[in-house]
Amino acid sequence: MADMDHPRNLREIVENGLCLGCGLCQSLAGEDRVRMDWVDPPGRLRPRIREPLDDATEEAILASCPGALLDEPLDRERNGPDAREDPSFGPWIGVWKGHASDPEIHHMASSGGALSALGVYLVESAKVDFIYHVKADENRPMRSRSHVSTNRAEVLEGAGSRYGPVAPLDRLHEQLDKGRPFAAIGKPCDISGVHNLRKLDPRVDELVRYTLAFSCGTFADLQCSRRMLERTGFPGGENGEDNLSLFRYRGYGCPGPTRAVDKDGNVYDETYLDFWYGPHGWTHQFRCKICADPTGEATDVSVADAWPGGGPTEEEWGGYSTFISRTPRGDALMREAIDEGVLAVEEHGIELMYDVQPHQAVKKQGLNARLKAIRDSGFPEPVFRNLRLDEAQAQRDRRFFDDNYEGTRARIGKGANRERLA
Ligand SMILES: Cc1cc2nc3c(=O)[nH]c(=O)nc-3n(C[C@H](O)[C@H](O)[C@H](O)COP(=O)(O)OP(=O)(O)OC[C@H]3O[C@@H](n4cnc5c(N)ncnc54)[C@H](O)[C@@H]3O)c2cc1C
Ligand code: SF4
Ligand code: SF4
Repeated sequence: MADMDHPRNLREIVENGLCLGCGLCQSLAGEDRVRMDWVDPPGRLRPRIREPLDDATEEAILASCPGALLDEPLDRERNGPDAREDPSFGPWIGVWKGHASDPEIHHMASSGGALSALGVYLVESAKVDFIYHVKADENRPMRSRSHVSTNRAEVLEGAGSRYGPVAPLDRLHEQLDKGRPFAAIGKPCDISGVHNLRKLDPRVDELVRYTLAFSCGTFADLQCSRRMLERTGFPGGENGEDNLSLFRYRGYGCPGPTRAVDKDGNVYDETYLDFWYGPHGWTHQFRCKICADPTGEATDVSVADAWPGGGPTEEEWGGYSTFISRTPRGDALMREAIDEGVLAVEEHGIELMYDVQPHQAVKKQGLNARLKAIRDSGFPEPVFRNLRLDEAQAQRDRRFFDDNYEGTRARIGKGANRERLA
């Protein structure tokens, strides 16, 4: 058992369940020294240390790893004088609900097509040269990989939620080395990695012109997707991955089916609700249970599903996104995209997020209790700075705190935060 407050190196980040698999440490250290690799079972991506790391590299990883550090103050220089701060959802300037105006994007994308529409707009209006995001791995379509898009067709290859593991930041430095302006799209924690790197590498502020993220509850280990193959009678069942020609989690409707297609073109579908809430359930990596920023507070624009109550109650609910602009740059992008007819939206206030993302507020409100449980169990916790955790805790009562505390103690008791290095 580690005897310290916070992890002191890459090994301790991973072994104490704080890694979320973003791939930034590979990008920083170089693939010859750190490479993202599969830990299977359960089927998740974790860094493998291939050569000993020098102190400077370890320090750079500790200062930028979003699993170990979230430091997102409401920074007036970045967020501007007009940004307000919500206890649960962070800095905001404008809030909208709507969808991509382009029907093809709207249909293909996860919810309202917000991210894909903004991605296409950014490259077509030459505000950036490319988008750095993710897409399905063409060779192993149940898996995903980082992806560079320079045009509409490439952006749309990435449309849709990839609910399995992916290391979006594994080639971030390669993108910075190009010396060209780009936008990064990812989960909130991926964008926190980019945000952390600002302090170490001035090229981030210069070249990463926009950061966009979606609200995120967690992602699933590969074993969840394999069980879907089994449930739908896919040839080879759980072991049928090599026979896949397509694996999609969402899109083509909202939320759209989880779809596996074999190499003969036969389609095996499961509804979103069955995939999430079916007999085998879901997996959560430990780090997602202590996520202090599930809605992308460090972005220029963050989006979320707009399901009333936080989740779909039926298939084909209709695809709407919520949008939050958080910086003047993100706000200007939103207003321009609305004026240009890229997005069809109505304006709201931040209270909309409490209607459509209540689970994210609850997560934040329980975080202090969960962190205390880690501390009291003698394990290191991440550094979370300026994320209003005391304020969020104060929104709930003692019983809520105790339930969160006990739940985390129990998970730790079962070893949920112990991982082996790949
Ligand atoms: C792991 C995961 C968890 C989610 N949890 C929630 C939740 O708790 N609440 C909620 O409202 N919505 C959640 N979503 C769905 C998310 O809200 C929608 O994807 C989002 O609203 C964007 O919809 P869109 O139509 O604008 O996206 P699209 O236009 O379909 O674009 C999606 C973009 O996200 C990128 N992307 C997809 N998957 C990943 C990934 N795993 N890592 C990094 N980048 C990725 C793609 O490259 C693409 O650029 C989750 C999605 C994922 C992938
Ligand atoms: S969270 Fe990202 S940077 Fe941190 S250890 Fe995991 S893969 Fe590396
Ligand atoms: S829940 Fe938080 S830590 Fe987990 S993948 Fe989503 S943004 Fe990252």
